[in-house]
Amino acid sequence: MFQKILIANRGEIALRVLRAAKELGIKTVVVHSTADADAMHVRLADESVCIGPPPSRESYLNIHQIVAACEITGADAVHPGYGFLSENAKFADILAAHHITFIGPSAEHIRIMGDKIEAKRTARRLGIPCVPGSDGAVSDETEAKRLAADIGYPVIIKAAAGGGGRGMKVARTEADLVEALHTARTEAGAAFGDDSVYIEKYLEKPRHIELQVFGDGAGKGVHLGERDCSLQRRHQKVWEEALSPALNESERARIGDICANAVAELGYSGAGTIEFLYENGEFYFIEMNTRLQVEHPVTEAITGLDLVHEQIRVASGGGLSVRQEDVKFQGHAIECRINAEDPRTFTPSPGTITHFHTPGGLGIRVDSGVYSGYRIPPYYDSLIGKLIVHGRNRVECMMRLRRALDEFVVDGIKTTLPLFRELVGNSDIANGDYDIHWLEKHLAESA
Ligand code: ADP
Repeated sequence: MFQKILIANRGEIALRVLRAAKELGIKTVVVHSTADADAMHVRLADESVCIGPPPSRESYLNIHQIVAACEITGADAVHPGYGFLSENAKFADILAAHHITFIGPSAEHIRIMGDKIEAKRTARRLGIPCVPGSDGAVSDETEAKRLAADIGYPVIIKAAAGGGGRGMKVARTEADLVEALHTARTEAGAAFGDDSVYIEKYLEKPRHIELQVFGDGAGKGVHLGERDCSLQRRHQKVWEEALSPALNESERARIGDICANAVAELGYSGAGTIEFLYENGEFYFIEMNTRLQVEHPVTEAITGLDLVHEQIRVASGGGLSVRQEDVKFQGHAIECRINAEDPRTFTPSPGTITHFHTPGGLGIRVDSGVYSGYRIPPYYDSLIGKLIVHGRNRVECMMRLRRALDEFVVDGIKTTLPLFRELVGNSDIANGDYDIHWLEKHLAESA
């Protein structure tokens, strides 16, 4: 087991990882920018190292400073959280060269899944169902037109290096296609420095369903069920649930087996998420994330497993703590992402939290690094906390969620809490009847 883990992140996830390490009796080191000197995880860690000024580029993304912090403190492993360096293969390579364990998959697997064309090829080879589309990058207009005619309109042009929903354009006719190809290429080139794009069938009303998987790196793989993350705004998840209200047990078992087998065959190590669009009973792979996800607590709620413990265990060579037959799903869980944003326009609302009171009681979990008097720095993303509610079934979970939202107080800044109070009373949400466009439509209609 590791002696000391360095946490290369900030906010609620830094605290989340710190708690797991403490429980395992492992010493913790956190790194932070000058803007985060007052953060909760900095106060609670055994040691902290300031690694630079507020901009992420100069601190949380600064590989040299982070490696230096490992050397100074004698940390033998790094947990990258999500975002920042969590899916950076070069970072994993550099740590390996310094004999420091990266708590995550191999650099090779990070690289494969970071290139969407390569990821899709790999998924297809492993028997994972994919969206019909081009086999690789699309080279020119003629090829794009031929492919789109084969697949059938509408189609979507996507960036190979994509992320955060950028470099994606929908074309409904051949006339749209030329322009969509051009715009997607330009956007991808500007955002990622790589203008290669590919083409796939555009699904009109899918749900976003993702499978939580784990590999032991030595040929074993398990799945921990799915999460439904269809409630999104601008491709950002807002509300996540486990299990999905849309799947039945046999669909779950079928896609779960496919994913667990794929992870095993790949020799994948640690936590991963295989993302699908789901429409008319079919799953279509879109990407694999090679890290812990923001929404992992809903999976923890229904399985009783601590996913960060599991990550640390696998990375230290201890293997998985469960076999597939040990994984049982109990009840229903929903997570609401509390952002420091205007609940209608979603413009960031940094500032000082004058009063912070979290709900409690049976089935309630709040993961947050903020406190009364905390000043939210304007440099980073706006997630200030997550409310996770568990019930014996979805109805009980929703009742409890409504009550918890009533208790939650965040004063001094705007947050997305009012949006959740509205959603929890909506009949489509109560029925689990929504697709990936539902929230944007709802916001437009109620504007
Ligand atoms: P990114 O890495 O940029 O988030 P993804 O491939 O994960 O890109 O896609 C992000 C979102 O874009 C999906 O959750 C979905 O809303 C939409 N999307 C992607 N591919 C398709 C498709 N083939 N049909 C319809 N919507 C799509």
